[in-house]
Amino acid sequence: MQQFDVIVIGAGPAGYVCAIRCAQLGFQVACIDKWVNAKGKPTLGGTCLNVGCIPSKALLDSTHHVHFLREQAAQHGLKISGLEVDIPTMQKRKDKVVQILTRGVASLLKKNKVEVFAGSARLGGEQRVHVDQHDGSTVEMQGRHIVIASGSQPTSIPDVGIDNENILDSTGALGLQEAPERLGIIGAGVIGLEMGSVWQRLGSEVIILEALPDFLPAADQTVSKEAMKLLAKQGLDIRMNCRVQEVQASTGKVSVTYHLNGAEQRLEVNKLIVAVGRMANTEGLGLDGVHVATDQKGFIKVDAHWRTSSEGIYAIGDVAGGAMLAHKGSEEGMALAEHLADQYAHVNYDAIPWVIYTWPEIAWVGQTEQQCKASGISYRTGEFPFRALGRAHAMDDTAGLFKIVCDKESDRILGAHILGPSASELICEAVVAIESELCAEDLARMVHAHPSLAEGMHEAALAADQRAIHF
Ligand code: FAD
Ligand code: AMP
Repeated sequence: MQQFDVIVIGAGPAGYVCAIRCAQLGFQVACIDKWVNAKGKPTLGGTCLNVGCIPSKALLDSTHHVHFLREQAAQHGLKISGLEVDIPTMQKRKDKVVQILTRGVASLLKKNKVEVFAGSARLGGEQRVHVDQHDGSTVEMQGRHIVIASGSQPTSIPDVGIDNENILDSTGALGLQEAPERLGIIGAGVIGLEMGSVWQRLGSEVIILEALPDFLPAADQTVSKEAMKLLAKQGLDIRMNCRVQEVQASTGKVSVTYHLNGAEQRLEVNKLIVAVGRMANTEGLGLDGVHVATDQKGFIKVDAHWRTSSEGIYAIGDVAGGAMLAHKGSEEGMALAEHLADQYAHVNYDAIPWVIYTWPEIAWVGQTEQQCKASGISYRTGEFPFRALGRAHAMDDTAGLFKIVCDKESDRILGAHILGPSASELICEAVVAIESELCAEDLARMVHAHPSLAEGMHEAALAADQRAIHF
């Protein structure tokens, strides 16, 4: 039986990062992953690299160019005629990006001398792990520490089967070779909005049905209301309060029955994407046999140091619940590795940035105004619109706003919310500010380059003290 200090199950952003950090700290590490790509080849990087963050952003970037060429180029004096959109080539570029990055993970693991196993892992007693390798062989190994980083997979709603022909999950939605004429999406969450944006830009009429009454309830309401308006203006037909009851599919036609304010409605589309959330990947891991407890939704229960109910077994990333974000899993992976090496490490769950890569992008970190209100915190806010930024005008990208929420007495920044171009990059300043316990006054006194979009954060901080200069 092979012996390791640490066995990591899963090579997604939580698992591979944990494995590399463990190896850097001097552990003998094994990392097992069962993923095979469309060509049947074992591949690393998990959901994030293969069917998640990376391919979705590749398509969002390509289709953003399409949108620019069609809608904005003329204003820049660029006359485009005969523009042809070749979706199969766009998809090939996306596949190439995925290939480069998954190969990159393989070489990083190799460089760090992590031993990689391609196959399905199952836990046994006494810290043993059994691997059914894709080549048909089996491996038995034992680890002082076992880290479960098996991730998550798309879920559906009762009686709605995903066939990835007519009814698609996020993976199917990323792989379409042509834009459906009418595309239905169930769920106006991150994935629904990103996939809706891609296919709307490529010509589909997109109708999104969302069960909740409020759009993006986790975001600050100022931002979510403005985002809803901007996305609707682009052509996304987002219908709130619509709980989907039944779906029937035949080739090229999907009929969706949903309830709107108690009344039954019907929608006919050519394809339907189900984007109603994700569930933990625990099947086949043998958790019961080793007494690893899960919660009611199936996520592995962990304590503040990612320990499961079974000694020596840990869980990180999507499978351990909480924010289902790649960077959250990676941070947990690094912090856990350092704990295993008896070092001090932590993850500040109050400073995790969220991003939705629509255009404009939506990004936030920390508390929303409505959260502060609900918990009785006395706060102040500062807002600043992109249309008051010189750089945004130079870019011809002026929609959106910055909003800072800070404590009324101490001035400490509690949250920051951005709707606008490159919000995914701009939010980083707010993460640093919250991590460093900065006040709005600190940001207000820091020099921001001119002209830049980041000036909006500076002005929002000034606005929190009612002294914005340019608005
Ligand atoms: P995963 O990435 O799911 O990896 C788990 C790995 O474990 C898989 O490779 C799987 O094969 C392996 N595994 C499971 N069971 C076993 C077993 N028994 N034996 C061996 N191997 C096993 N997050 C962001 O932060 N930003 C984004 O922009 C973003 N966009 C997304 C877009 C889409 C369309 C989707 C679907 C997700 C997106 N996410 C995004 C979420 C992100 O992909 C996940 O939060 C992240 O991948 C979770 O990482 P993980 O390592 O916990 O799990
Ligand atoms: P996320 O949690 O970001 O993946 O988003 C999933 C979205 O799907 C949430 O906003 C849910 O409210 C929504 N949703 C879940 N079930 C249904 C349903 N039956 N009909 C419509 N929307 C749903």
